[in-house]
Amino acid sequence: MSTPGRRDPLRARFWERVPLEEMTPCEWEALCDGCGRCCLNKLEDPDSGEVALTRVACRLLDNETCRCGQYDIRHQLVPECIVMTPQTIEKHAYWLPESCAYRRLWLGQPLPDWHPLISGTPETVHAAGVSVRGWTVPEFEIDEDDWEDFIIEDGPP
Ligand code: SF4
Ligand code: SF4
Repeated sequence: MSTPGRRDPLRARFWERVPLEEMTPCEWEALCDGCGRCCLNKLEDPDSGEVALTRVACRLLDNETCRCGQYDIRHQLVPECIVMTPQTIEKHAYWLPESCAYRRLWLGQPLPDWHPLISGTPETVHAAGVSVRGWTVPEFEIDEDDWEDFIIEDGPP
């Protein structure tokens, strides 16, 4: 769910004082740090429920910007792309990366210093090594049977 930057007026430090369900659409979008991690394909063990992230990225993810290449029409191209809302976070929290701002606020955790809302620039996400910049492989290059060869921990490989 890597979103393009939208910067309509945001309430000061809204992420510290406005409940998720009371944020404006712009505030909600601004929470996304643009790491691109939720655009990585995951493997899920049907028995244990364990989830492993892979370096194999959605075909629409830009490996350099870590943004979706077709965000506005992504569901026409990738119907399974998730829609994050205050109501759906609980359903997705088990596989979202620990760094994800939506997951963190939902768990009552603060945003980290490298988050663009605090640092003032998206570059800090890359500098902190949180984003997927430069280390993904596109899913159209890797046979799905081989995805397990690309499993990563919750961090760069
Ligand atoms: S379509 Fe793919 S790249 Fe775009 S937001 Fe969804 S998972 Fe990410
Ligand atoms: S993991 Fe969370 S913060 Fe990172 S791109 Fe996805 S929705 Fe945004």
